[in-house]
Amino acid sequence: MAASSTPQDPSAFVRRLPTGERLPMPAESVADWETFPFEGDDLRVKPLRPPVLPEPARAGEHGPEECRTCNRPLSEALWADDHWRLDPVGTESRLPAVVLLQPRGHYDLSGLPAERTAELGPLLQRAERAVLGLDGIARVHVNRWGDGSAHLHFWLLARPAGLMQLRGTFLAVWEELLPPLPDAERRHNHRLIAAALAAEGGTAYALRP
Ligand SMILES: [Zn+2]
Repeated sequence: MAASSTPQDPSAFVRRLPTGERLPMPAESVADWETFPFEGDDLRVKPLRPPVLPEPARAGEHGPEECRTCNRPLSEALWADDHWRLDPVGTESRLPAVVLLQPRGHYDLSGLPAERTAELGPLLQRAERAVLGLDGIARVHVNRWGDGSAHLHFWLLARPAGLMQLRGTFLAVWEELLPPLPDAERRHNHRLIAAALAAEGGTAYALRP
């Protein structure tokens, strides 16, 4: 029996790691990247914590009854059609737009029905185009992590044109550091995204001023 297949025990990968120790900062490290948001002579890697197994349940792990997405009224979405919805994240944004594309049904990616999976490619493209339609957006970074919620959700983060430091994987960290977008501008961008999506189908819920 392969121990690595059981979620109760640490895998060979995890057992090999120097748990409890502080990993050294490499001579040429991520801290030297142009996109790394922090600087200082005392940057250290945190000690590696021991594994937590089995892992605690994610939000919605045990079904739609306790799922944040399933319990969120459609009226709070920016846009939705019969099977998908696009939602804002939180109540403020530190990028021109940060939105979540997610199925209306309670699925994670591995359990997504074939019909929904087939819709995903064209829909991601539509959502990216809608966000790219905002003023001054160079790129839309599409991310799927899924460690917080069991309900599939794709993050779309708008990366402002010209801000070369915000390229790539640290955009999500920069999003925590930049000043918040004025609320009127945030809502305006939401309306533009919703209208662009609704122009090709579905309903815009964010069109009220
Ligand atoms: Zn759900």
